[in-house]
Amino acid sequence: MFKLPIQYGTDLIPAFAQQNKKWLVVVAEPLLDYIRKIFSPDNSYFIIPPGMDETVLNSWISSVPEASYLIGIGGGVCMDTTKYLAWKRQIPFALAPSVISVDAFLTDTIGIRRDGKVVYIGKVHPDRVLIDYQLIKMAPKHVNQAGAGDILSIHTALWDWRLAARRNGENFNRSIARQSEGLLLQLDEAADEIYSVSPQGIESLVELYAAEVQFCGEFGSSRPEEGSEHFWAYNLEYRTRKQFIHGEVIALGVLLMAALQKNNLSEIHGLIQKLGIRWHPANYGISRQDLLESLITAQAYVENEKLPYSVLNYRSITREIAEKLLRQIEI
Ligand SMILES: [Zn+2]
Repeated sequence: MFKLPIQYGTDLIPAFAQQNKKWLVVVAEPLLDYIRKIFSPDNSYFIIPPGMDETVLNSWISSVPEASYLIGIGGGVCMDTTKYLAWKRQIPFALAPSVISVDAFLTDTIGIRRDGKVVYIGKVHPDRVLIDYQLIKMAPKHVNQAGAGDILSIHTALWDWRLAARRNGENFNRSIARQSEGLLLQLDEAADEIYSVSPQGIESLVELYAAEVQFCGEFGSSRPEEGSEHFWAYNLEYRTRKQFIHGEVIALGVLLMAALQKNNLSEIHGLIQKLGIRWHPANYGISRQDLLESLITAQAYVENEKLPYSVLNYRSITREIAEKLLRQIEI
């Protein structure tokens, strides 16, 4: 199995930028001014990602100049854009995530949007993943705290996976399930450091993601960490046409689905509070009505989209049940 060359430290990017290369720097717009000062203008070309739509990407790519080396600095979109460019151009690259919130800097496939839906294509490996504490600390704290969302999702995803094995004869891997569950315990142990976005917290989160990516890779799908909490969130995004900070909306999904699953709600709620994740929908403009609708229509959505079997197939949500779920998580 390919082992990612992850490097941790402060000011890693300035050191890395000293190398004499013809750089192509894919950078998230809010970081552009900061990054411009780090790379020499003589041998660097800066790019703001044009978005993840495949058609847009393909017409955009012809305008990108030739280079000998590529580096992506930013969030998930930046990571995927860099991987896409590296794959199309066959040039070596490094990734420097500005926030530890999604696993795009650890996976070898590239997430793009085709006809509005996320699909995964390609296969690429970076030379280096730079976890630069200085860069990561520049993001608002709540964005980094939300980073734990895709680890938290193991809580509800495993319940769904077990249900799917029992009721739907789905392949279940006991060892991977147990190891994934172990990540939740590690998350709990690291929660205070993650909350304060300390170097130790950042490193713990990266290592948790790396382990999760490995387990999912061994199993061959994201079953161990993706279940009803994600499927409900996709439906919410689809219905509201809004995009949210992934970990925040996933944390809300974990709470709602844990309530629906009757799966240790108070325990997972405690962990989410400890991590400081802004899970409450009032923080990011989801109305109570949107929330109720997203729950009531979730079963139709997962059936229509043929998503993996989960509690959403198993338990229908009426308006009454939706109201009750919101009451349970105190909305
Ligand atoms: Zn996710």
